[in-house]
Amino acid sequence: MYKIERQLVIDTIKAMIIEATKTLDKTIVDKLEYAFDKEVNILGKSVLAKIIENQKIAKEENIPLCQDTGVLVCFIEIGRELVFDYDLTEAINRGVSLGYTDGYLRKSIVRHPLNRINTLDNTPAVIHYDFIEGNELVIHLAPKGGGSENMSSLKMLSPADGRDGIINFVLETIKNAGGKPCPPLIVGVGIGGNFEHVAYIAKKALFRPINDQAKVLEDRLLEEELLERINKLNVGPMGLGGITTALAVKVNSAPCHIAALPVAVNLQCHSARKKEVTLVGTIA
Ligand code: SF4
Repeated sequence: MYKIERQLVIDTIKAMIIEATKTLDKTIVDKLEYAFDKEVNILGKSVLAKIIENQKIAKEENIPLCQDTGVLVCFIEIGRELVFDYDLTEAINRGVSLGYTDGYLRKSIVRHPLNRINTLDNTPAVIHYDFIEGNELVIHLAPKGGGSENMSSLKMLSPADGRDGIINFVLETIKNAGGKPCPPLIVGVGIGGNFEHVAYIAKKALFRPINDQAKVLEDRLLEEELLERINKLNVGPMGLGGITTALAVKVNSAPCHIAALPVAVNLQCHSARKKEVTLVGTIA
């Protein structure tokens, strides 16, 4: 059996958060630069130029990309050969607390939706666990902005609504959202599963690399058609018009009930911050 020290988990999460909030992955920057070259709307183009400049300044001056440093979302893959003599969730949240306080990042979590009392360290994170083979702990995390999350949507369609129903719901969600989710977006779409699972797979879609394609043919074709049709909505960068409303669409699907067609649309703003780190266990 293998172990990973609690302190290593804490230090890793802390460092990942601080880095994630201040730097955009090169693949995202490349997409933004490509979109800038192609954008024909003058306002849209100028917004893209500002977004590209903003991420350069954040990196050079070691400051957050955006004032909203989000809710921390983690997908944790646990190797089956690992053993833990501590509470992994507690260790992750300790790392979150240190990342947001020592990193001087905005704390955006309230203890209860009605009393609105801030927890003061951005805990608790939203954590999803999964098991994998081996002795590794794979940590995927993303500080998820509130603006894009607020404009996300879920609907239980009828199977008769079919593919057209899915497309119409995604387009309607993005059109209604306008500039509020801070486009250009990455659009995570979940189809199938049930009420809670469809939201989970839509969120997980946002953690896929921006340049990958769905492995399932039906999902891949939907991704291509949705990207083209979303970019014809003329929402544009920050809602100011143009052909760059989305940088990518990611569709994840799951089996579902014969009487159901759940669809979830999880929007990610242009400040698409995320990190992945793999920790390897040592012999326990
Ligand atoms: S939606 Fe994204 S870019 Fe807009 S304020 Fe929130 S984190 Fe910042």
